[in-house]
Amino acid sequence: MTELDTSEYADVWVFVEVHDDVMPVSWELLAEAKTLTAKTGDDLVALVIGEDVDGIAEEALARGADRVLVADDPVFEPYRADPYGAQFRAMVEARKPSIVLIGGTHTGRDFAGRVAVPTHAGLTADVTEIDVDDEGILQARRPAFGGDILATIVCEDHRPQMATIRPGVFEAADPNYACETTLEGSIERVEVVVDEADCISEVLERVVDATADITEAERIVAVGAGIEGDLEPALELAEALDAELAATRAVVDEGWVDGARQVGQTGKTVRPDLYVAVGISGAIQHVEGMNKSETVIAINDDPNAPIFDHADYGIVGDLFDVCPQLTELVQERGI
Ligand code: FAD
Repeated sequence: MTELDTSEYADVWVFVEVHDDVMPVSWELLAEAKTLTAKTGDDLVALVIGEDVDGIAEEALARGADRVLVADDPVFEPYRADPYGAQFRAMVEARKPSIVLIGGTHTGRDFAGRVAVPTHAGLTADVTEIDVDDEGILQARRPAFGGDILATIVCEDHRPQMATIRPGVFEAADPNYACETTLEGSIERVEVVVDEADCISEVLERVVDATADITEAERIVAVGAGIEGDLEPALELAEALDAELAATRAVVDEGWVDGARQVGQTGKTVRPDLYVAVGISGAIQHVEGMNKSETVIAINDDPNAPIFDHADYGIVGDLFDVCPQLTELVQERGI
């Protein structure tokens, strides 16, 4: 393959993922990508693909994008990998972005490869930290070798430098609709290159997964091996708090709680307002997934458990005594 002239590539793109609503990871990426463009001097470009997405394009500007590219067509609703992949690829080939960031959701993981392979881009999956070096090379960090090390992956010779980013690791910025002149003229509708007749897939039915997304939960009651297979006290506390249930890997490995609810390095990253850790020791791999929680309450019968180092409030005691008492208190007084 001939050597690529990387100087032809510029700007940082963030994919704004829309399914009825915008996936929160899109706004998280937009906020974090701003720290990259502040260093490189590139434009921060939001990419919106969908049907009737003008309002979302405006929101992308209000959330910090310098420009927005919009591919608006019924062919993009509902999501399918082939039209999204083909449209995204065409835009990448025509406009040559230097860095492309995509949420590491089912959708992002599904179509990112359809862009990266034909364009010979470098794609790093499940990234948890991003930065750029002095030459503007993306430093994509992610757990590797089963989470034992944090690897920094760079792509010096190919463009774009692509990454799918784990939801929940960055904080979204609030939209600012105050600067109306900036909002005007920065949205560009691009040519839609996909035709329904060329699509090889058809959506026959959409089935909503009943498993709650713990990354979106405002309150979480998380259980560790200390529950010894008895979820009842934690479930009652969760119900009283209107909280989602989450778990450590030890609990998931035992089969007591579904893997979609695992918090930590090899699970999900959460940042709820309230995180109640019940019978959790506080291993570093777990803490990595919850240490951005606003308020942490830990219940453990071992006063030296490391989880107390990460808790705002600690209760030393048997969870089978403490949880029912807490539940009663919440039911009586509310929260
Ligand atoms: P334990 O460490 O066994 O702790 C149980 C706690 O319950 C103890 O502190 C004990 O004092 C307390 N306890 C027991 N009985 C009671 C009682 N009756 N009342 C009150 N407290 C009680 N872990 C994750 O959670 N998420 C990950 O994503 C993850 N990824 C990993 C990746 C790698 C590469 C590796 C090597 C490990 C990973 N782990 C992960 C596992 C992690 O190292 C710990 O083993 C795990 O988090 C421990 O889970 P735990 O706290 O439930 O269990």
